[in-house]
Amino acid sequence: MPVDFTLSPEVEEVRLRVRKFMDEEVRPIQDTLRGAGADRRAYVEQIVKLRQRAKEVGIWNPHLPAEWGGMGLGPVAMAFVSAEAGRTGGIGPYIINAQAPDEGNMHTLLHWGTPEQKEKYLRPLAEGRVRSCFAMTEPEVAGSDPTLIQTTAVRDGDDWVLNGHKWFSSGAHGAAFAIVIACTDPDADPPQARNTGFIVETPTEGWEIVRDVETMAGPANHPEIRLTNVRVPVDNILGGRGDGHRLGQARLGPARLAHCMRWIGQAEVALEMLVDRALKRYAHGSYLAEKQAIQWMMAESAMELYTGKLMVLHAAYKIEKGLPFRQEVSMAKVHVANTLWRVIDRAIQVHGALGYSTDTPLADMMRTARAARLADGADEVHMQTIARNVISAYKKEGRTRSATGDLL
Ligand SMILES: Cc1cc2nc3c(=O)[nH]c(=O)nc-3n(C[C@H](O)[C@H](O)[C@H](O)COP(=O)(O)OP(=O)(O)OC[C@H]3O[C@@H](n4cnc5c(N)ncnc54)[C@H](O)[C@@H]3O)c2cc1C
Repeated sequence: MPVDFTLSPEVEEVRLRVRKFMDEEVRPIQDTLRGAGADRRAYVEQIVKLRQRAKEVGIWNPHLPAEWGGMGLGPVAMAFVSAEAGRTGGIGPYIINAQAPDEGNMHTLLHWGTPEQKEKYLRPLAEGRVRSCFAMTEPEVAGSDPTLIQTTAVRDGDDWVLNGHKWFSSGAHGAAFAIVIACTDPDADPPQARNTGFIVETPTEGWEIVRDVETMAGPANHPEIRLTNVRVPVDNILGGRGDGHRLGQARLGPARLAHCMRWIGQAEVALEMLVDRALKRYAHGSYLAEKQAIQWMMAESAMELYTGKLMVLHAAYKIEKGLPFRQEVSMAKVHVANTLWRVIDRAIQVHGALGYSTDTPLADMMRTARAARLADGADEVHMQTIARNVISAYKKEGRTRSATGDLL
């Protein structure tokens, strides 16, 4: 089988179009958000205009098929688009309507939704008229183990009645609906069959946003929510009863990889800042860029980024080809999340006191990057899965190749 890393002219063209748009139209707006005098209202108006511009430029909904107003790009092409958009943090992906959690929710609706659900919920999301959220994690039990979910859904006539407590439902403020994972069958065996996904239109009676959880990156719309007798029509089950776990896993695989793609864009920006500073800062007889200690930071960052890019592309390739992808996505997720953290940290180091200040975007980038090692599965949980697969491959095949990318 030939291994060809050449990009098709179509994907190269899209990548350059996204890059140009981000550099020329989004980056200047992003810069206006920083600093004490930032005008939030003007900024939001600009974002709305830029979303319209993204439609005009033809980079709207890159991840959706044409019948949903999208560009029909597969995961491999999306890796290039998301890395370009991710260079502007969360803004770029939002402007092209491929932001978390909506991108993952769109994929979930596309694959699990009934024709009616798609028309009612996917259509407005794809058109950028509404936003959505995904509510699985709960404060009282470990989010790492969804079989512990305590939010219940009980059938009552033509409705399901939901009661429970969620938090970190990103984007819940202002969302038109939530995909809520709740326990419908507490005695199901295996326990993974206990949960079911529901589409809950929000706000609705009994849906109470208790607070926006303040994070180390500030208030970022990750609310805590109380559900008290929230009634959901039977038609709003997403997938089948007991499919909640499968739905979450199917959603999270590609969604985790989409995060990695954006993080690669962020890590690239950090490395470029590191290099730029090192080329300009002079100490002890030479520029920082001429010193071996600093060059090693560059070299390590370059190698980690390169490894991350290959891992992301290979995992995307496996998703695109319908091959098993969970092991590759887990490895990419842990590697890229930690690469992002380390590269930003090195960039801060090379900037000295300036790096510790909030005069550059690095402090914001670092605070935001810390979540990457927790959200979409903590490092340790992925590592546990990775190791289990390595052991299982060795036991079955006497070698570990199938659990290490199944390549060489
Ligand atoms: C910015 C951000 C956005 C998020 N957005 C959403 C969202 O939109 N919707 C949603 O439902 N959730 C969301 N989450 C929640 C996220 O999915 C959970 O944080 C994650 O699943 C971990 O669950 P937990 O926080 O309850 O940690 P816990 O499950 O309590 O784990 C805590 C720590 O225990 C350790 N640990 C856990 N299991 C193991 C193990 N098996 N072996 C070894 N160590 C282990 C790990 O170090 C882990 O970090 C978001 C989180 C963040 C930070």
